[in-house]
Amino acid sequence: MARLSLRHLTKTFGAQAAVRDVTLEVRDGELMCLLGPSGCGKTTTLRMIGGFALPDAGDIQINDRSVVALPPEQRPTAMVFQRYNLWPHMTVAGNIAFGLKLRRLPRAAIAERVRDVLGLVGLPGFSQKYPHQLSGGEQQRVAVARALVLEPQILLLDEPFSNLDARLRVHMREEVKQLQRKVGITTVFVTHDQEEALTIADRIAVMNEGVLQQVDTPDALYARPQTLFVADFIGTMNLVSAHADAGRALVAGPWRLALPGGRWPEGAEATLAVRPEDLVPDPQGAPARVRRVINLGHYLLVLLDGPGVPALRMFTEKGASFSEGQEVRLRIARGLVFCGPEVAEIGGPMRPSVAAPTDRA
Ligand code: ATP
Repeated sequence: MARLSLRHLTKTFGAQAAVRDVTLEVRDGELMCLLGPSGCGKTTTLRMIGGFALPDAGDIQINDRSVVALPPEQRPTAMVFQRYNLWPHMTVAGNIAFGLKLRRLPRAAIAERVRDVLGLVGLPGFSQKYPHQLSGGEQQRVAVARALVLEPQILLLDEPFSNLDARLRVHMREEVKQLQRKVGITTVFVTHDQEEALTIADRIAVMNEGVLQQVDTPDALYARPQTLFVADFIGTMNLVSAHADAGRALVAGPWRLALPGGRWPEGAEATLAVRPEDLVPDPQGAPARVRRVINLGHYLLVLLDGPGVPALRMFTEKGASFSEGQEVRLRIARGLVFCGPEVAEIGGPMRPSVAAPTDRA
């Protein structure tokens, strides 16, 4: 059992705040991804959990006990680094056994645990090989084995697949997910790759510029992003500048949409976010012209230009017939309106709204 709790963690380098007031709960057995663009503070957060960087403020608790004053080797955590850091002059068994030797376990017990963990990561029979005799994926598994053999309560993974080619990365993330489920270990996994996070995580903590933006399941992040940053960062999104008109309508490019009532001051500036699959052809919709049709295998990406809204992206079934230069009319089946700190949903099954061309269209 291991719960991890970050409380108001802050870390500054010189004048730059790398991590700002991050509070996050990771549940027992959960795989939590820290996701965000390069430089957003993910690795610094992970390093603070592992004890490799000291926070300027805040606390880190594991099962309600503060570990912030403990050095890495005294924390119940183990970290897998981006570059694996395997010792080239040691065999696989030597690499994995190293931490156990420091703990002065008896030889027989070490040999048994090394054998067990090599079986767990799918490398039985690899104990006498050297790192240079292994593929990237095998080295990665040895690095995970070396962390797991210490029986940590929390496993920390820092972009563990970034050195692997695309196909192997997809394979390894399935393997690590299965292994994590089997062992049931609470895991924090840093990545800047949203597809990786969406496929592997139980929940994802999205960061930007040191600030935690939203913590949610992959489904919820996709369907209900709470900030404009998350809306834009996760998946593909059309963003359209908009303003409130007469209190209850939103004017966004050629669309005039019913707003959920009462909250919108006249003229309020907003951004309408629409997923490509929520733009649907409709004879009553706003006009647009097809710029390009791109076949993405099992679906089509249609690029469209509407009045004041260039380069809209629409996903549609492969059977649909669109041709370049064609005039179409589009309705917004569902969208999210971001206005300052407020976010509201337009359309969708709960609250259907009609998107009709405005006078300006
Ligand atoms: P990446 O995906 O590129 O690794 P990240 O989200 O993990 O990025 P961090 O490595 O946590 O980001 O860095 C956050 C910010 O802190 C960056 O602007 C980085 O330049 C800065 N930073 C990180 N470590 C140090 C350090 N030791 N000294 C000075 N600045 C640092």
